[in-house]
Amino acid sequence: MPDDVLALQREARKVAAAAVANLDVREDSWVAGYSKPFSRELGERGWLGMTLPRDVGGHGRTPFERFVVTEALISAGAPIAASWIGDRQIGPTLVHYGTPEQVARFVPGIVRGTEMWCLGLSEPDAGSDLASVRTRAVLDGDEWIVDGAKIWTSGAADGDFVYLISRTDPDAPAHRGISEIIVALDSPGITVTPIRDMTGARHFCEVHFEGVRVPATNLVGELNGSWRQVMRQLEHERGGVDRLVSNLALYRDTLEVADRTDPIVRQRIAAIEAGLHTGRLMVLREMLGQAPPGSSAVTKVCCTELEQRITDFVLSVGLDGLLAGRQGRAACYAPAYTIQGGTSEILRNVIGERLLGLPR
Ligand SMILES: Cc1cc2nc3c(=O)[nH]c(=O)nc-3n(C[C@H](O)[C@H](O)[C@H](O)COP(=O)(O)OP(=O)(O)OC[C@H]3O[C@@H](n4cnc5c(N)ncnc54)[C@H](O)[C@@H]3O)c2cc1C
Repeated sequence: MPDDVLALQREARKVAAAAVANLDVREDSWVAGYSKPFSRELGERGWLGMTLPRDVGGHGRTPFERFVVTEALISAGAPIAASWIGDRQIGPTLVHYGTPEQVARFVPGIVRGTEMWCLGLSEPDAGSDLASVRTRAVLDGDEWIVDGAKIWTSGAADGDFVYLISRTDPDAPAHRGISEIIVALDSPGITVTPIRDMTGARHFCEVHFEGVRVPATNLVGELNGSWRQVMRQLEHERGGVDRLVSNLALYRDTLEVADRTDPIVRQRIAAIEAGLHTGRLMVLREMLGQAPPGSSAVTKVCCTELEQRITDFVLSVGLDGLLAGRQGRAACYAPAYTIQGGTSEILRNVIGERLLGLPR
C-alpha cells in the first residue's frame, strides 16, 4: 500500500476508534448507527463523496482511498448511517443520471454530510419483485402527485430525502413503467411510522404518501427508465465493504475470549479468516472496477453469508458475560444480512440466469 494511503488508513482507524469509544453496539453501523454530528465530521474531513469528480463538489480521490476509509469506519462500527446511503449510491447516481440542477442542489449536502437519504424501493407487496411496485406518481402540470406506501425504508424517520421508485406508466409492461423521483420527507402528505425490529431498534419505517406534491424537475434520469438505472445503482449497493465487515468488531472481540487452543475453534477461525480475505479481494475487485458486470450479486452472497457464519461462531464459541448483549443482538440481526439489498435466493437466480446463462 502506498505511504499516503497507509497514512489515510491509520487516520481513519483512529477517527473510527474515537467514534465508537462510548458505544455499546458497534455492529451494523451503516444501517443502525445514526449520528448526524459524526456524519458532518466525515464531511469536514473530506470522507464523503470521495470519488465524485471535483467539478461537481466531490473530492476526486481514488476508489482505493475510499475503500480504505470506509473499511476502517465500518469495521470498527463507527455510526455512519446518516450519510451512508447518500455517499454509497445516491451521489454516484445523481452524477451519472441527474440534471446539472439536481447535482448542484443535492450533491453538496451529500458531500458535507448534512442531508440524509433513504431508499424507497420495497413495498408491502413488492420486495424481491421490484418491478411490481404500485406507488404511483402522476404528472399534474409542473408537479408529480405521489400516492402509495413503502416499507422497510431505513432511516426515513430521521431522513431528509427518499429516492423513490414509483410507477409512472400503469399501462406499460411492469419493467418499463417505473421512474425515479426525489421526494423531500417533510412534504405534506407523508406519514413515517418506524418499525421495531427484533433487536429493538427502529431504523426502518413504513412511509405512506397521500397526494404528495413533488416538483416535476425531481425526476432523475429517463421517464419510465428506472429499471436500467436501478440495476446500475444496485451494483453500488451490493458489492461494497459494508456487506463484509458489518460484524467484524464483534468477531474480533470474540477472539479475545474464545478458547484458541481448541482445535475445532481453530479450524473455524481459519475458515472465517480465509473467508474475510477472499471477501476483501472480491470487494476490492468491485471497487476498482475490475469485476465483470453483475458480479456484485456473487460478492454480496459470499460476503453476507460469511457475516452470518461469523454470527454463528460468535454465538457458539465466544459466550462471555461481557459480550452477552452484543451476542443476543447479533443473533436477532443476522437474518437481515441476506435479505437487505436483495435476498440470497434472488441473487442466486441473478447469478444463474444473467451471469451463467442457465435456463430459467
Ligand atoms: C435491515 C433491512 C433494511 C432494509 N432497508 C431497506 C431500505 O432502506 N429500503 C428499501 O426499499 N428496502 C429495504 N429493505 C427491504 C429489503 O430490500 C427486502 O426485504 C428484500 O428485498 C426482500 O423483499 P421482501 O421482504 O418483500 O420479501 P419477499 O420478496 O416477499 O420474499 C420472501 C421470501 O421469498 C423468497 N423469494 C421471493 N421471490 C423469489 C423467487 N423468485 N425465487 C426464489 N425465492 C424467492 C425470498 O428470497 C424470501 O426468502 C430492508 C430490509 C432489511 C432486512
